[in-house]
Amino acid sequence: MVISLRRRPSVRICHFSCAQISLTANLIAHLQSTWRSSVYDHFHAPTIVCHLDGHIMHKFMCRSIHPTICVSRADYEDSTSNLKRHIELCEPMDTPEAQTMQDFAHGVTYSWPQVRYLIAMWCVCSHCPFSIVEDREFQKLLQMLYLKIRLPSHFTIARDIRVITDSAETSLIKLFKVSTDSLVHLCVDGWTSPNVFSYLGITVHWHHQASIHHVLLDYVQ
Ligand SMILES: [Zn+2]
Repeated sequence: MVISLRRRPSVRICHFSCAQISLTANLIAHLQSTWRSSVYDHFHAPTIVCHLDGHIMHKFMCRSIHPTICVSRADYEDSTSNLKRHIELCEPMDTPEAQTMQDFAHGVTYSWPQVRYLIAMWCVCSHCPFSIVEDREFQKLLQMLYLKIRLPSHFTIARDIRVITDSAETSLIKLFKVSTDSLVHLCVDGWTSPNVFSYLGITVHWHHQASIHHVLLDYVQ
């Protein structure tokens, strides 16, 4: 039950077996000829789909940088709001400020510094390799949540973790200076990796408010 249309005024019918479609090819061509907005230029000629419950939808496929994305509209509607919304997300805005305003208006909470911070913390806390940010499936997952997400390279993640570590060092010194309610236990752990590199890790452990905390102080090769 699918009809594919060329741009007006010609119409090509691929399949026309649904009795619930009462519009003739001429009428459909007429409808298409009434679409004056330039937003239609962003899309391929629409495909008409008839659902079993009788609803007829126009499906507009993006012809720009996201050709797999489709925007649907009921056949009785002529509003271009959904089409415009797609274009705003699909095509880059002229300036970063305009882009930020646009995203804010659509309730987007994406922030490039926060993405870097959260990925760095995720790699550290969950022992993930930095190269996980370059995993194609992981990138697709995030792009599904926000189409224009920008992801850091594994070099950036490594740099960010060093910055976070330096910052944490200052906070830790401050914490130990004011905290006198617990003993601090230092631990040295040495081992050799399979590729015969020797490492020395220095950790500190302490008790605070009914829980035990650990921090890596240094890591020496
Ligand atoms: Zn598009």
